[in-house]
Amino acid sequence: MSRHVLVITEYRDGTLRQVSFEALTAARQIAEGGPITALVTGDRHSDVTEELARYGATRVLFITHEQLRQPIADVHVQAWMYAVEQEKPDAILAPHTAIGKDVSPRVAVKLDVGLITDCTAIRVENKRVVFTRPIYAGKAFMKKAFKSEKCLFATIRPNNVTAEPVDTPAEPVETTVNLELPADAVQTSVERVERKATSGVDLSEARIVVAGGRGVKSEAGFEPLYELADVLKAAVGASRGACDAGYCDYALQIGQTGKVVTPELYIACGISGAIQHLAGMSNSKVIVAINKDPDANIFKVADYGIVGDLFEVVPKLTEQLRSVWQSA
Ligand code: FAD
Repeated sequence: MSRHVLVITEYRDGTLRQVSFEALTAARQIAEGGPITALVTGDRHSDVTEELARYGATRVLFITHEQLRQPIADVHVQAWMYAVEQEKPDAILAPHTAIGKDVSPRVAVKLDVGLITDCTAIRVENKRVVFTRPIYAGKAFMKKAFKSEKCLFATIRPNNVTAEPVDTPAEPVETTVNLELPADAVQTSVERVERKATSGVDLSEARIVVAGGRGVKSEAGFEPLYELADVLKAAVGASRGACDAGYCDYALQIGQTGKVVTPELYIACGISGAIQHLAGMSNSKVIVAINKDPDANIFKVADYGIVGDLFEVVPKLTEQLRSVWQSA
């Protein structure tokens, strides 16, 4: 059975976020040959059409409005609702990002449909679309399906579905709509945006994360981690212990009450491995732990463990990796 899938993309800092392509790849699995519409909000970023087609978009809907450049949920709800009314999709896939998490439930309520959030895989099994999502803070996965096929609606966790290009991209039908907002539609406005200092690589989409815990001991103690991250082109993250101690900003926090990351490689430095921390990183593909306590809980989830002082281990690792990278 073919389905028309609406994929909500996310455009930030002059580029589409990787999760947009991951959502398009997931959409292909359930569209079963049906059309896939990519929604791009903000400006008419005409350069993205080709990229979207490469990952399976057959239609591109641009909805423009200057307020859509900001993460204002009220405005994005209006844009998504317009897209749904226009496209009448059988399924909607949105990114499980800050704005995606904010807007999706509001749209689900307006549409009076269910919503399955934070999906790590989507497949068709016995003609039903089955969504996989983590439960118990990532300790297990559950499979869910909608009772009604009225409009399937799910959010996709970044970095889980591998974005795969199509063999023969379509030439998408492009439509541009200038959003007209009812006067009372927007209750909030953004006064200014202050960017937190990070390593430059987006933590939730990073392929490699170097994370520090209370064992890093100070703000300056994060320096060797930034150097390692720089060599590996990785993002720097942290435990809540490190954030609470004031060694780094809460924007870096990984875990149950922080960001959830699923990189290919996670290097935990001076992190004990509390359950709340594991909730945000235990699904990483390869986990390396550096801790001077051989009984630290983090070693139970680690693929590779180094028992030692991070201030000795991390610089040596950086040095070695730098020489390998430079000679490669
Ligand atoms: P610690 O537990 O103090 O561990 C520090 C580790 O560093 C130790 O294992 C020690 O052996 C090692 N170490 C010390 N010096 C060195 C050195 N020189 N070299 C190598 N190793 C060294 N935590 C999160 O991380 N994320 C969350 O989202 C989160 N949410 C929470 C939500 C709730 C409701 C609650 C109650 C707690 C939450 N926590 C969260 C806190 C969590 O329980 C832990 O307190 C926290 O993760 C501990 O951080 P840590 O591992 O950095 O510190």
